[in-house]
Amino acid sequence: MTKYESYQKDVLEASLWLSAQGYFGSHRGSGGNVSVRIGEDAMAITPSSVKYQELSAADICVIGFDLSGIEGNDKLKPSVESGMHSIIYQRRPDVNAIVHTHQIYGSVFGLINTPIPALFDEVSFALGQMVEIIPYALSGSSELVNNVAGKLSNNANAYIIQNHGILALGKNLDKAILNAELLEKVAHIYYLAISTGKPVNTLPESITDFVAVIRNQEVKEAMEKKREKK
Ligand SMILES: [Zn+2]
Repeated sequence: MTKYESYQKDVLEASLWLSAQGYFGSHRGSGGNVSVRIGEDAMAITPSSVKYQELSAADICVIGFDLSGIEGNDKLKPSVESGMHSIIYQRRPDVNAIVHTHQIYGSVFGLINTPIPALFDEVSFALGQMVEIIPYALSGSSELVNNVAGKLSNNANAYIIQNHGILALGKNLDKAILNAELLEKVAHIYYLAISTGKPVNTLPESITDFVAVIRNQEVKEAMEKKREKK
């Protein structure tokens, strides 16, 4: 047993659950990846191009934010999206876990290039004022990493990647998974609402302003904590 084992176990368990629920695009698919932050400069992340059902906890990669290997199975490479996870941890001290999936309804909005506005208060408190669209770039490219970095300052916990999938962030893995679920729920409902052809009501500005205050406060507190530690 190594000091990273509990992180590796958590990542594998989350990946298996998301896969079984169809979040990775098919019930046996691995179209997505999961990571958790380890301290100030490392993360545990799923390996690239493998079925999660065939992995053990020790196969989950532990790498630095510079993507250098720390622990894991030498035969398995970390997810090609590791750079995307790394930039989020570096820019957002409030984020300790990241779920990237190819879930159906979230992905629909990445095809019609339409952000999801604030529709329900409990969802917005968790996800942010708006689920924005991150512009398309090839999976695993540095351009995609830059496009993700360009959107993080709205302090949201969910994003849709154009023609690709979604990103859900959280202060722990449980919250990140919940945020992926909330995004799927709200995307599904918004899709149905738009399909009626009737106007869709969004939340009043007083509520979205309040959501922004809460999200910004959480990020500010995490930044202050990080500074105190240094
Ligand atoms: Zn993907």
